[in-house]
Parts: sequence; C-alpha cells; structure tokens
Amino acid sequence: MLFNYECSECRNEYKISADLMVCPQCAQKQKSDEPVRGILEVKLTGKADPDFNTLDLLPVPKEFFPPVPVGNTPLWEPLNIREKTGFPNLFIKDDGMNPSFSFKDRASYLVSAFAKSCGIDEIVLASTGNAGSSMAGIGAAANQKITIFLPENAPEAKIAQSLQYGATVFKVKGNYDLAYDFSLEYSRAKGGMNRNTAYNPMTIEGKKTVSLEIFQQMSEVPDSVFVSTGDGCIVAGVLKGFKDLLQLGLIEKVPAVYSVQAETSDALYRARESGKFENIPTSTIADSICVDVPRNGYHALKLLSDYDGQIIRVSDEQILKAQTYLASNSGIFAEPAGATAFAGFLSMANELEKESNVVVISTGSGLKDIASALKGVSAPTVSIKSVQEVL
Ligand SMILES: *Cc1c(COP(=O)(O)O)cnc(C)c1O
Repeated sequence: MLFNYECSECRNEYKISADLMVCPQCAQKQKSDEPVRGILEVKLTGKADPDFNTLDLLPVPKEFFPPVPVGNTPLWEPLNIREKTGFPNLFIKDDGMNPSFSFKDRASYLVSAFAKSCGIDEIVLASTGNAGSSMAGIGAAANQKITIFLPENAPEAKIAQSLQYGATVFKVKGNYDLAYDFSLEYSRAKGGMNRNTAYNPMTIEGKKTVSLEIFQQMSEVPDSVFVSTGDGCIVAGVLKGFKDLLQLGLIEKVPAVYSVQAETSDALYRARESGKFENIPTSTIADSICVDVPRNGYHALKLLSDYDGQIIRVSDEQILKAQTYLASNSGIFAEPAGATAFAGFLSMANELEKESNVVVISTGSGLKDIASALKGVSAPTVSIKSVQEVL
C-alpha cells in the first residue's frame, strides 16, 4: 500500500512528512476564527482483501506503533434497547472501552507511531480533556513527552488521568478554542509534533479505523451510523474509513452517516445552513463536543455532502436522558458526549427503517465526567442506620 497526502480543498498531492501539517497553499487563506484550511487527507493506493489487517491500511509501518491495545472495541447487541425501540438490528460500538476510555485513542495511537517514525519524541496538543488524556496514556506507553493545553473547566477526571500518565498539563484561562491557539504557538516556539485535532492529518486518519472495524465485525456495512460531533474529526474519520473501503472495492455503498451536535454547540449545523462559520460562544453539558469553531469544519462538511450525510441536533436534556436510558437499558455507561449519538438515534427513530442495520458509536466512558452523570439520576441524600428503614 502506498500513501500520500491530498489537500481536501485544492486536491494538490504531497509526500507525507512531519514538516507538513496543512496544505501550504490553502493555509494562506487561513483567517483566525474559522476552521483549519487546507486539511490534508491521506490517500491510499493499492489493494486489500476483506480480512485485511487494519494497521496495513494506515500510513505508518507497524513497528512504530506502541504496545497498547487500541481499537477492536466491542460491537454490542443491546437486547433491551432493541426491543424497546423496535430496532432488531441496532448495534452500539463502545469506544469507551479503549485504553484511555475514549475514541481519541484511535488518533493518538497513529500520531504516536507517526512521531516515532519521524524521530520526534515530544507531542503537544490542545484538548477539551479526552484527546489530552488519550495522548498522555499512549505517550506513556511509547515513552514520549506529552504537553497538554486544557480549558480551565475541563472535567477533573480527565485532568487526573493526564497527570497520572505523566503529561505536562497547562490550564488555559479560557475555553478550548483559546487552548487550541496556545498549543500551536507553543509547538511553533518549542518544536515537537503538534497533535491538535484536524491540524495533524493523522488525527483524522487514525479515526477511520472505527469504520474498518465495523465493516469487519458485521461482514458488511450498516445502513446508518450515528456519531457525536464537535470539531468534526470523528465524523470525518468515520466517512474516510468508508471512503477507503469503497475505493478498495470492499463495499458498494457508504452508510448514511448522522453527525449529532448539541443544540447549544452546533457550529457545523449552522454553517451548513448559512454557508459560513461564525464564531459564537457555545456551551453544553457534553464538554467533549463543546466547540465554538469546529476545527475540521470545512473538511467534515465536504465529506458529509459528498456522501449524503446529515447533521442533526439534540438538547442537553435529551443528552442526559439518553445517557441514563443507555446505561440503565444496556449496561453501557457513556459520558454525555458519548451518549449524544444515541440521543440522535432516539430522535430519528421514527424516520428510520425499523429493520435497518444501525450502528451508534459511543465515544467515551461515563466515568470521565461524574459530575454530569449525577445530574441525570437522583443520588441518595441520607445514609441509613439500619436496614429496617428501607424494608
Ligand atoms: C472528541 C470527542 C467527540 C467529538 O469528536 P470531534 O472530532 O471533536 O467531532 C465526541 N465524543 C467524545 C467522547 C469525544 O471525546
């Protein structure tokens, strides 16, 4: 298999190299306050059998990957939910089962290998929490130095995790968008590889592995896939995976992809409606998808339009309800952003074909954000002194 970069805007091709993160020509159009310009997509050339090894479809040789069991996450068949919703072919891909408990490990794994193959041992990134803790964990296994910029309101568990893994953590007086800019400034000044989502092409490429796995686990592609969306890298990765399978002749159609945003942090949705990105302050209980400027906005919109994907929105209330519904009916405990895709599925259930194959991706574990999890349930307020009190 051969790999190159292809600019998602001008289609220029480039050799893959650590010095090249975005298309130098399209980057000249970059304005502050808008998504990243000149996103580079990895283009593959070659052939593969249906029982391919996922690593063979990634642009870094196997020997550079650290010894961490990333991916191959379980595809659940949630019987109670299947019965209650009337969808006998509903599946949940639980990416909270990754080593650092979120989908982000798919990107960190490839970025770690890429940095290693380029002889770079420091990785710098901005994160709402999960990308940072993920890179920190994988970096620990790979013996790489990880530096993270986080918004000051990042959930405590994600900070604790990053520190336990040994990363250097800077809290930024502001939001994720500010952390994003700070981390770019830092890596420009200090060197190392920047793993900012979208900006580093390997973040999108690594995330495609979820679609390759879904294809192998089901021996076909589903009719629809639901995925929660903030910066738009996961949804782009999902589509890129199916696009590769299509190009390799292993599938005949790309599933209908539903990109699910929080109603109160819906920049991608608004941009599709209005044709332009506006930097409006947003907030949502689902911190991992709370993004003012979706960094992969242009690229995600392009892929969604190329493959007839949809963007839908759900409220914070729907997200919290979906989180509890999912946990109490299936045993899958997802963080709010992880349950957002499921909330999107529930909101669309009346419009989907009941017999169709539906995959909902759950992107992060509920243990990542206990404070939010407690909002959807009523915790005991008094301690009992004897069992008699509750008999
Ligand atoms: C990062 C993240 C998302 C959204 O991914 P984007 O690439 O930002 O769209 C969704 N869920 C969880 C748990 C995440 O950590």
